Amino acid sequence: MTCPVCHCSEPDIFIELSNLPIYCNLLWNSRQEAIACPKGDIHLAFCKCCGAITNTAFDPDKLGYSQDYENSLHYSSRFQAYAQALAERLVAKHQLYGKTIIEIGCGKGDFLVSLCELGNNRGVGFDNSYAERPEHVAMGAQVKFIQDFYSDKYAEYQGDLLCCRQVLEHIQRPGDFLRSLYQTLSLKAVLPIAEPQPNGSETAVFFEVPNALYTFRNMMIWDIIYEHCTYFTPISLRYVFAAAGYRSHEVLEEFGGQFISIEASVESSIESSIETSAQSLAIQAKCPPAVNAEELAQLSEDIAQFKARFESQMARCRESLSQRFEQGKKVVIWGAGSKGVTFLNLLNLQDEVEYAVDINPRKHDKFIPGTGQQIVTPDFMETYRPDVVIVMNPLYQQEIQETLAQMKLHPEILTTEQFA
Ligand SMILES: [Zn+2]
Repeated sequence: MTCPVCHCSEPDIFIELSNLPIYCNLLWNSRQEAIACPKGDIHLAFCKCCGAITNTAFDPDKLGYSQDYENSLHYSSRFQAYAQALAERLVAKHQLYGKTIIEIGCGKGDFLVSLCELGNNRGVGFDNSYAERPEHVAMGAQVKFIQDFYSDKYAEYQGDLLCCRQVLEHIQRPGDFLRSLYQTLSLKAVLPIAEPQPNGSETAVFFEVPNALYTFRNMMIWDIIYEHCTYFTPISLRYVFAAAGYRSHEVLEEFGGQFISIEASVESSIESSIETSAQSLAIQAKCPPAVNAEELAQLSEDIAQFKARFESQMARCRESLSQRFEQGKKVVIWGAGSKGVTFLNLLNLQDEVEYAVDINPRKHDKFIPGTGQQIVTPDFMETYRPDVVIVMNPLYQQEIQETLAQMKLHPEILTTEQFA
């Protein structure tokens, strides 16, 4: 096994987790089905050459996203505010007014629609799990959704901005994916439908992924999920784009440090579009992108620390929960997303936590994969009256506390950070 990002020697496995649900966001209609859901192993390896962290036990044949996949974070006001500010920033920065925007992995289409509405732009979204929505149909030709992967087959769809959020970490060979995307985008200059661009034209590219630096440095164990084959840090994100030929502009930490984004560009010219991938691969092999040695050494130290502290943190969590269970306390988790699913499964909590609360109505009355908790509405807490609420994402703590206070509930609030 070589590193899927830089192809260098054998990466070091530093953590092995077994039998976790392969889908954190695929919810089940009965407890029985949820408990029997498909599971897989996670063996995380660290590459000392480029800083990439990958799941070497990942098996792509196990996955296939469908419309049942529920990963929309759009119901949280904290997340909505972030996404809206990001859309505004991208529109202003790239002067996206009356332009065309492509989004890969657009999910339910909310972000693409925001970008289109803000600058009266046209949008084309690609996602296998997209399900048609009447409000999108009402937008007519302004937005179009294609239930497929974006590839050279769709090279006729070219944009002024290509964005892709929370997708790259799901791709087993991110370098190959980016290289092939580069080739497709560089066809812009030679397409008969594109406006004539005598000096070539640039496509701005925006990618956002979870920030693995945040995950591993802050012991965010619950951010580890089967669906992520690669965990990017700023170093490996810059590396993978440079190696695929992109010009990188900036890497930023976003959403309280939980995400990282990269802005890059593809310069399409007649020459770059006819350059074969074999040629560009040969160029890349000769001069791999430079990596900041100090940054890489620090990351290597973070990974070593994570490995050293992992077991004791898990033991502390287990102990603190069984204490509350023995005292007869009613415990719920708040947040039935991937953090919640990993938390319940890694600690194998069944009787200790009775319910998972979530504000997303599409999750209600479904069941958590692996451990089988029922997902309930925040309103349900008014009758259930929990003694302890474990907040899965500390960013939502205030939002959750306010909701509870409105119901005159004042349970013990634990965040997964203080809890450990
Ligand atoms: Zn590597």
